[in-house]
Amino acid sequence: MAKLWQRLWPWLTVAAAAAALSLTLGCPVRQLTGLGCPLCGYSRALLRAAALDFPAAFRFHPLWPLPIPALALGAWLSRRRPGAEKWLLWGLLALFLAVWLLRLLSGDPVIHP
Ligand SMILES: [Zn+2]
Repeated sequence: MAKLWQRLWPWLTVAAAAAALSLTLGCPVRQLTGLGCPLCGYSRALLRAAALDFPAAFRFHPLWPLPIPALALGAWLSRRRPGAEKWLLWGLLALFLAVWLLRLLSGDPVIHP
């Protein structure tokens, strides 16, 4: 378990710092391009989920619950099949990009100002 935390804490620290920055300063991609990024709405979704407002959480980001089980699956895969977790990460990235594209094309107000 200690080894797992040694592998996870840098990623969790980066994720927490990115969430804190996006909540305080806003999305840098949106500020540069006028359009939201694949993670836009994610920190707001987590805040709504923490308040048990799950419909609002899904409106802010439909994939908000996914990284938590993916993290657990990645940790399990890294012990069972070393190297397989990178494919999980690529799949998660592809899914976030696909959902971002759908949100972009559908005029989602979280992505469009
Ligand atoms: Zn963003």
